Amino acid sequence: MAPLAMPAVELRRNGLNLSGTALWLDATRKSELSFVSHAHSDHIARHERVIATAPTVKLMTHRLGKIPSPLPAPYNRPFELGPLVLELFPAGHMLGSAQLRATRADGVRVTYSGDINFSPMLTAEPAQLAECDTLILESTFGHPRYRFPPRDEVLASVEAWIRRCLDGGVAPVLLCYPMGKSQEAMKYLSDRGYPLCAHASVYEASRIYAECGVSIRVRRFGGDYRPGEVLVFPPRIGRGSALAKVWPRQTAVLTGWALDGPQIARRYGADLAFPVSDHADFEGLVRYAKATGASEVITHHGFARELADALCAEGLDARPVGSVKQLELF
Ligand SMILES: [Zn+2]
Repeated sequence: MAPLAMPAVELRRNGLNLSGTALWLDATRKSELSFVSHAHSDHIARHERVIATAPTVKLMTHRLGKIPSPLPAPYNRPFELGPLVLELFPAGHMLGSAQLRATRADGVRVTYSGDINFSPMLTAEPAQLAECDTLILESTFGHPRYRFPPRDEVLASVEAWIRRCLDGGVAPVLLCYPMGKSQEAMKYLSDRGYPLCAHASVYEASRIYAECGVSIRVRRFGGDYRPGEVLVFPPRIGRGSALAKVWPRQTAVLTGWALDGPQIARRYGADLAFPVSDHADFEGLVRYAKATGASEVITHHGFARELADALCAEGLDARPVGSVKQLELF
């Protein structure tokens, strides 16, 4: 039997580990040392040491309390960690989001994309190309059916819906993830002069954004609605009783999954769903994989198998994380 090639990363109980090193990538349980690509809850834990951008450390601290030994790292400033040279690149997913490129002692450059988005954002640093030999690529929307319409067109249709609601005396409620998606939507609307009122979780996250230099004018929801306002709530709260007194109202959820069809709105308890995503779509992921120059792509999360198959069809050497590759003996 042919020997197994040493994979660049291994998927273990805590998440992804950079093979042969103590470095975890977005470990989901407490670890000695983890790179944290961004502050969404499925990427953070109370690690002993954390490598992340300063905004990510701030946003993580907001969610988890004080982080013991953060190592805040700026973008595009390589630094050494044992035998590795590490460098962070913007990922365009939310404020502070980063990709990590690790150059190993053998010279092989491994890039971990984290969650990544290439559409221009108002509240996140634009994604940069992190050229590499091995790319570990997220594949949340890595199926060919996910092709997002241009972001500005979708946001314009969200605004048109808000306008119709307000003109008809109806309170418009946007349902969005409280950190990242909400601030992006609110920045777009506040720049256009809409007064905003947000649930406490959205409001508090926005305060941290402001501390990081991204300020958004918004009022904290206290039970009352003032005509002309746009409400911004997390989906699980927006469909509960918190908004019982706000009537008449209409709700719209902002999510890339909106492309799956009208049932998505119902699933979120909303009247409508708009495909506003902070992840790259299928084409964006394929384009990025090619642009990095990687000779090997390891996909993970979501449609990992489908994206790997599509990349193989494009002539790249790709496979989902955890699947093994056999070396030729000759
Ligand atoms: Zn995320």
